[in-house]
Amino acid sequence: MDLSRYFDHAATTPVAPEVIDAMAPYWRDVPGNANSIHQFGKEARDAVEEARYWIAEAIGATDPYQIVFTSGATESNNWVWNKSIDMLVSPIEHSSLLVPAGSSQLEIKDWTVGVSDLEVAVMAVNNETGGMPTLRGTPYLLHVDATQAVGKVPWSVGDASWASLSAHKIGGPKGVGALYIRDGVINPMILGGGQESGLRAGTLNVSGIVGFGCAIRRAVAHQEAAYAHATRLREIVLERLVGVQGMRVNDAPRQSPHILSLSFLGLLGETLVIELDHAGYAISSGAACSAGEDKEESPVLRALGVPAEWNRGTIRISFGETNTEASAAGLARALAAAVENVRGLGQKS
Ligand code: PMP
Repeated sequence: MDLSRYFDHAATTPVAPEVIDAMAPYWRDVPGNANSIHQFGKEARDAVEEARYWIAEAIGATDPYQIVFTSGATESNNWVWNKSIDMLVSPIEHSSLLVPAGSSQLEIKDWTVGVSDLEVAVMAVNNETGGMPTLRGTPYLLHVDATQAVGKVPWSVGDASWASLSAHKIGGPKGVGALYIRDGVINPMILGGGQESGLRAGTLNVSGIVGFGCAIRRAVAHQEAAYAHATRLREIVLERLVGVQGMRVNDAPRQSPHILSLSFLGLLGETLVIELDHAGYAISSGAACSAGEDKEESPVLRALGVPAEWNRGTIRISFGETNTEASAAGLARALAAAVENVRGLGQKS
């Protein structure tokens, strides 16, 4: 498969070759359980602790033990929601917070979320549009889902009490993530053998954690270059779509360039995703993992004020290091052709 035509990096990223090389020995040569006291265990434990250190360093945590490994950002988000306190969540959060949170939601207007002395969750970069919300007010406790921020925009934990992270959005393996816990204000996620300071029991995924450490170190070191690359590719796509009628760009005042959300009036996003798949390009529809009752309409875009007839026609293009200027130009050409084709067929949403 031609990775330059993969424009779904917000869904997941290809594992970077260096990350695979870093992980391989922990399957092949280091069989130990990180909790065993013998040398085999120690070797595994040392690798886990090195990764913990790199992750803490990458996000500006003051102590590596503020990082607790999980199975991914979904688990981290659920953990904070279920096991801490009654938080209010912004309406643009990922489904792994919106679903457990039910109806307790804050309001967003012009990408600003108003918070008072509350416990709130507001993500750093939205996974459907790349928009970065601004907080008005200082919450008592703040949970930040930073899954789409790390390695994409300058980001550090700042005042957050908790932050959710995931390896597979930054060239790491799937099924590994972390929760940053500033000062231990949380109940355990999983009870059992007492791993992870008693907060999350279970034998550690040593190779996965090593891959996460390598991936985050690499992603943060390349963040500025990745930002410039995504900005350029975004410009290329938008320049080539200038003549397309009935299109809107769902940008925020503060925008991460790696996600481009486009809506086409009267079309269905999914139809365009399929058309582009036939042309050899991978993108996604904006509503891919949303939790609304109307499967074609993204509740996140609705909360952002995108009208229904545009909302249903939304696609998400997300850039990453495997994309090239040539493939971005090709994608834009294929997209313009697909829009014209589907409109020509008289599709109505
Ligand atoms: N939060 C955000 C903002 C995401 O984009 C994702 C991935 N779709 C998640 C959480 C869930 O992450 P994971 O796949 O690691 O469970």
